[in-house]
Amino acid sequence: MAITNHRLTPEAYEENFRDIHPPFETRDAVLVEANRCLFCYDAPCTKSCPTGIDVPKFIKQIATDDLRGSAHTIFIANIMGGGCSRVCPVEKLCEGACVYNLMEETPIAIARLQRYPTDQAMQRKWPLFTRKPSSGRRVAVIGAGPAGLSCAHVLSREGIDVTIYEKEAKGGGLMTYGVAAYKVTPEYCAEELNYILSLGGITIQYGNELGKDLQLEQLRLQYDAVFLAFGVGLARRLDIPGEELEGVVDALRFIYSIRTDGFPSVPVGDKVAVIGMGMTAIDAATQARRLGAAEVTLVYRRTEAEMPCTEKELEIARLDGCRMHWLAAPEALTGADGRVTQLRCRKMELGPPDASGRRAPRPTGETFTLDVDMVIKATGQMPFEELVQDAGLRHRNGKIDSATHGLTSLPGIFAGGDCVNGGKEVVDAVQAGKLSAVAILEYIQSQPPRPAVGPIDPSIPDHTV
Ligand code: SF4
Repeated sequence: MAITNHRLTPEAYEENFRDIHPPFETRDAVLVEANRCLFCYDAPCTKSCPTGIDVPKFIKQIATDDLRGSAHTIFIANIMGGGCSRVCPVEKLCEGACVYNLMEETPIAIARLQRYPTDQAMQRKWPLFTRKPSSGRRVAVIGAGPAGLSCAHVLSREGIDVTIYEKEAKGGGLMTYGVAAYKVTPEYCAEELNYILSLGGITIQYGNELGKDLQLEQLRLQYDAVFLAFGVGLARRLDIPGEELEGVVDALRFIYSIRTDGFPSVPVGDKVAVIGMGMTAIDAATQARRLGAAEVTLVYRRTEAEMPCTEKELEIARLDGCRMHWLAAPEALTGADGRVTQLRCRKMELGPPDASGRRAPRPTGETFTLDVDMVIKATGQMPFEELVQDAGLRHRNGKIDSATHGLTSLPGIFAGGDCVNGGKEVVDAVQAGKLSAVAILEYIQSQPPRPAVGPIDPSIPDHTV
């Protein structure tokens, strides 16, 4: 057993990572699907979208050949509506709420329809939004992920000059770095980012990390408001013996390298165990298989009824040949020559519900062992507790405390997205950014104009796009 890269031919990598949600092939196919929509008055699809996209309206606009209008309807609610059409778990959101489900018929393919006008808008660079003249007010945003970009776009439309500080070399956050490549490509993420920035008034300074390259106090002095959208960090520790062995890796790191280094460069084991059953766990497991791992086993301490991923995600893992070990909790990792070789698990059973409302797993006293050469940890991400603590923000175990619409315990400092909720969907982050932008605008308008300030601290390296 060994962890190696370059396992497959270039053709096999291309085949394994091609778009899992291909667009409609013809305009006629789009129109047929759009005309299936019943344009429901109370639109449960819209109510179930965290950003409240007016689904019947954008579908009607497609059906009447108003593609610009349709793209605008989507983007005004969700500026990352194109990306979300690829990565949203629509089966538990809009498509899961479609009335066709009640008639036991296939729901409207809302995500594929949403992709049609948004793709056209981005490819043809339609200028669907205009920016008001600059008000001279400035806002700093920390993090160029979905929450930060969504907030920046709303603010810029209102004439606010926005500077985004991003620690990575590219924008897009988890969309760019943390999602399976067969759902959304890095190239699409770059295109989406460029479309958002084409509005003007938004500058991104890459390679700037809060707490290292810049300090919150410094930003408070230089800007009218600050929006924190720095997400969450790496995977939670398993806190079991052997966790430091070679071959035990973090799921987000693994996915990050797939998205940045290229498929052939990423090493993967023959026998891989993935701990967890959320979307990130599924993305890691399926991609390990698609990189050429012979066996991939997902290990989860509860049952299918309690898993955080959707049925559709589980189906992808099953079709990729991944195996599931339900009611199993990792107990220890053992190895030889410093490399992981075995994962011992405790067999679990379900007891009464815990604080989450789900039945709590408890050990049965039995164990079993899996032969492994790679273990991927995917049991949720850790908040940046030290960073939040050092900044003097009130928090709960590292998750920033924020009132409705993002105001934190510090005046003029707002926060939203994963750094507040601990990690939800991209669409939730987009909505948090949007709502926070509204609150930031209200806050700025209630404050006297700041005296003109000089250039931003020249010690901050300028990697402006
Ligand atoms: Fe159309 Fe389904 Fe939404 Fe009704 S619930 S408006 S049929 S997409």
